[in-house]
Amino acid sequence: MARIKVLDEQLANQIAAGEVVERPSSVVKELVENAVDAGATVIDVMIEEGGLSLIRVSDNGSGIEGDDLPAAFQRHATSKIYTGSDLFRIASLGFRGEALPSIAAVSRMTCISATDGSGLARRLVIEGGTTTAFEAANAPQGTDMSVRDLFYNTPARLKYMKSIQTELGHISDYVNRIALGHPGIAITLKHNGSVLLRTLGTGDRLQVIAAVYGTSTAKAMLPVAASDADYELSGYISKPELTRANRGSITVIVNGRYIRSHAVNQSLIHAYHTLLPINRFPLVVVELGMHPGLLDVNVHPSKMEVRFSKEAELRSLIERSVKSVLDGLRHIPGPDSIS
Ligand code: ADP
Ligand code: MG
Repeated sequence: MARIKVLDEQLANQIAAGEVVERPSSVVKELVENAVDAGATVIDVMIEEGGLSLIRVSDNGSGIEGDDLPAAFQRHATSKIYTGSDLFRIASLGFRGEALPSIAAVSRMTCISATDGSGLARRLVIEGGTTTAFEAANAPQGTDMSVRDLFYNTPARLKYMKSIQTELGHISDYVNRIALGHPGIAITLKHNGSVLLRTLGTGDRLQVIAAVYGTSTAKAMLPVAASDADYELSGYISKPELTRANRGSITVIVNGRYIRSHAVNQSLIHAYHTLLPINRFPLVVVELGMHPGLLDVNVHPSKMEVRFSKEAELRSLIERSVKSVLDGLRHIPGPDSIS
């Protein structure tokens, strides 16, 4: 056997990139989540060639201190958690400190960031994990991240990329979901210059539903809101006559994070019971809020999967509240009942 050695940071980042950066949409997800965590109220996502030539995410959030900029690209470097106990009350979308170094290891990346409106910014360029420039720049408050030539130095991964349309489909799906989850943020998605999504950031979720699915769909949605001692639920569910061929139009947001949850999906579908034809599914946008301690988001590097500590209770709340909205449909008083 050869002797055991610790991998150098660049190699470790490249290996981590294999998990964190599966495809262009993973980069979009990580950069947009960072912008949300930075408190941005405006986020612009610009894509070229399905994200393989350019992914650019700019925000008007807190920005990164000039001196901290190189550290942001170091492995396991984060401003979001500091201690082990923080791990059990995560209030931000990120916390692993892995995204930026991983993305920078497999692309040519430029980051421009400023923490105030003085115009003074810093610019950092990293190519394949190596810093090639770190200098003063001029930019408004916020952060502007550009990722060019994704996977240029990992040809095996590049080979697995699908068509521009497929990659763009994944990106667009993710941006739509995060916009549905954050109606208070004005989010724009452009591909090769044309606008695919624009939300206004007014806080009106129905407006975002209209931007994503169209106005006639938005008109067929019913509001739902409920809470118990541990969970808070709000959002929109489709009237039974509006159905979809799969579960893909169910969006679940948990503490601001877009996640996939079989348990939540099942509860939603159960609530419709016999109102849905066989193999038809509702369109739902539901936001769940809870104390971070009731949620484990540290299940997978992509953070798409979570575990709820009181799952049965949550399921029952969802089923009860959705069912009561749907039951209400049958009891709307007609003109005759008004005396
Ligand atoms: P994480 O999000 O898990 O902390 P990242 O690698 O995604 O790790 O980012 C590292 C750090 O860089 C973050 O903790 C944050 O301090 C900073 N950062 C990244 N993107 C932004 C942004 N858009 N605005 C402000 N700070 C950012
Ligand atoms: Mg992050």
